[in-house]
Amino acid sequence: MKLVSSVLLIITLLSNSFVFSQEYQAPLNFRLLLSGTFGELRGNHFHSGIDIKTEGVEGQKVYAMEEGYVSRIKVSTWGYGKTIYINHPDGRTSVYAHLQKFSTKIESIVKKEHYKKESFEINFFPKKEAIKISKGEIIALSGNSGGSSGAHLHFEIRNTKTEHPINPLQFGFKIDDTIAPTLNKLKIYAFDSTTIDGYRKSQIINIKKTNNKYSIDKTPTINGAFGLGIFTYDKLNDSRNKNGVYSIKLYIDSIICYEFKVDELDFNTSRYINAHIDYCEKKESKNKYHRCYRLPHNKLTNYSNLINEGIIAFNDDTTHSIDLLVSDIAGNTSTLSFKVQATNKPLIDPLPLDSTSVSFRLSNPNMFNATNFKLYMQSNSLYEPINFRYNTTDSIEGVFGLVHNVHNNTIPVHKKYTLSIKANVPDTLKSKTYIATTNMKGNFWHLGGKWQNGFLKTKVREFGNFCIVADTINPEIKGVNIFDGKVFNTQTTIKCTIKDKNSGIKSYRGEIDGKWILMDYDYKRNLLRFDIEKNISKGEHTFTLKVIDNVGNAADYSAEFTY
Ligand SMILES: [Zn+2]
Repeated sequence: MKLVSSVLLIITLLSNSFVFSQEYQAPLNFRLLLSGTFGELRGNHFHSGIDIKTEGVEGQKVYAMEEGYVSRIKVSTWGYGKTIYINHPDGRTSVYAHLQKFSTKIESIVKKEHYKKESFEINFFPKKEAIKISKGEIIALSGNSGGSSGAHLHFEIRNTKTEHPINPLQFGFKIDDTIAPTLNKLKIYAFDSTTIDGYRKSQIINIKKTNNKYSIDKTPTINGAFGLGIFTYDKLNDSRNKNGVYSIKLYIDSIICYEFKVDELDFNTSRYINAHIDYCEKKESKNKYHRCYRLPHNKLTNYSNLINEGIIAFNDDTTHSIDLLVSDIAGNTSTLSFKVQATNKPLIDPLPLDSTSVSFRLSNPNMFNATNFKLYMQSNSLYEPINFRYNTTDSIEGVFGLVHNVHNNTIPVHKKYTLSIKANVPDTLKSKTYIATTNMKGNFWHLGGKWQNGFLKTKVREFGNFCIVADTINPEIKGVNIFDGKVFNTQTTIKCTIKDKNSGIKSYRGEIDGKWILMDYDYKRNLLRFDIEKNISKGEHTFTLKVIDNVGNAADYSAEFTY
């Protein structure tokens, strides 16, 4: 008996030490403070990693969390910017994004790839043994590249096989969080002929906090089926950021009927966030509500314990208790408890349904045609049926024909749909036109477009205001520290700014003496940079730069210089 238990003890100790040796190294060597958590609600996606603060500056050393090999390097103007992916022996991949600079070892291989592709933008997969990395190796310096709007490190852990991002905070990185989520507002959604306090309308109720308990000031009286939504966020110690929460549980009369949890995500379904959140509230009030029920076409796999998809319906005249439990991954939980009064009697006559508009259904393709306007949408492009509305606004300055008001931009669209617009455009200008979305205040955003049978046609993923505009203005190039006759003595980089007024920059190509050069593009500062050092020989050279916008207007720049 004694022998058995000591064997067991040894096995337990061994397995513990095994777990301990598996512990990852933090990617930064100072206290980890987060400006973003995993699963946080972002535009059209859930945040797939954690954002670690870098003390407000770029250039902090980034460490590999575990041994492995570099499986992918991506450099993009937008999105993740400069990114390293490392595959580890345990079947996970770590991802480090918005980097400023790769380590010398990685950089030398990346540079070859840039010159092979003649492109700043690269996405390549080195061979398994090509760039081996040891645990804790410095792989890069942190930065603010790509779509990042402030210096930080975006850090992800993925399942290598499925490429699903996993919540990095499952792995014991030391992050101080003793603060429970903040519960801000509750929304009660009225479905079909439901009445809440006598009105056939959804209701928003402020949540109040007294002695660490959350409650609301009333007991809503409800007839019919309803759903709940909650506007909530989580704060971590010593950071002001309002981060995302980890889980939400809904109990009706102490029975769980909805649970949402972000342990794992899938890039293929991340856009269903627009069905998870109250998209309309986000557009109108900027408040991000989690729906505590599932819409029919929501394919996220983060739900469990669903009863009737989280939709609540009482068939009696009694009061019921509702508890909403919101947690962060550190285990801090806030609970909102309140009561609702169910009633069998509708308190007012249900309003007749709006019958004046065309209905767009879910599981069929939807189309709409008007003079000078056509729309085609595949099946399952929406999360809920809509009463589609279409209008036009008289032309505004700079627009050919009318502005087409296509439904309402507070309603989400899942898949791209086809939009065709007709207008009188002189043949000479046709190649310079494109479809734009506009805020009706003189701002236009390029959405592309091809002329086909008299219509300009493109694909879009949102409702809103669309029109045809033209761009006849060439991009603008300015030498920051370069001009004809320039002599480089102490400076080691060539700098230019590039801008395009209307359709935006599509491509650029810098050359020295007729050969492509790698220019680092920082779109937030409109800046192109080339490192002269080690890349060209001493002597006289010609620098040229060509920039093309999205409708093909081009600008050329050239300067002779001495290095
Ligand atoms: Zn991030």
